[in-house]
Amino acid sequence: MIVKRVSVGPLAENCYIVFREGSSGSLIIDPGDEFEKIDSIINACGVAPQAILLTHGHFDHIMAVGAIKNKYNCPVYIHEDDFRMASSGGNISYYFGENSLGIIADKIIYGDCILDISDYKIKAIHTPGHTKGSVSYYFDGMLFSGDTLFLLSCGRTDFPGGSMGAMRQSLEKLMTLPLDTIVYPGHGDESTIGFEKENNPYV
Ligand SMILES: [Zn+2]
Ligand SMILES: [Zn+2]
Repeated sequence: MIVKRVSVGPLAENCYIVFREGSSGSLIIDPGDEFEKIDSIINACGVAPQAILLTHGHFDHIMAVGAIKNKYNCPVYIHEDDFRMASSGGNISYYFGENSLGIIADKIIYGDCILDISDYKIKAIHTPGHTKGSVSYYFDGMLFSGDTLFLLSCGRTDFPGGSMGAMRQSLEKLMTLPLDTIVYPGHGDESTIGFEKENNPYV
């Protein structure tokens, strides 16, 4: 699997373009901002988005969703508990002096489930704590952890819907994944489950 990371927007959010070698379709995880930048990589790799997977509904993860959807007409996935937040002013853009109008998702994720998207089989793991509807996506030995698990840290729990208790349980859940799982977080650098299990103070 090939993973392209694009850092976008004022909070340096990580958008990921994921595709199989030789495939003409990709998955876009958290297109947070800077559509042109993301789209130039999609074009350079020749991989049309098959779906947009959102780890949660905060504005810094969703602001380029509309533009990608308009161009490629692909479905947008989000957990039921973040659906309303993503589509309204509740996406905390006002905390950061931004004005995100919000997005409408097409596919709602309930609990933990398997998403079957073209030739990709993705496990959606409900990991609340940063937001109620935070989801981590696990497939092919990779975990896209959004703002739940970071390199040596975890996401803030002081925004509406946040809970440190839920965060701890979610981190515990993620630590049951294979140690060599590569972690691709919503901000900052990559890690592995094994490294975080040993070194992350929140785990
Ligand atoms: Zn967030
Ligand atoms: Zn974020």
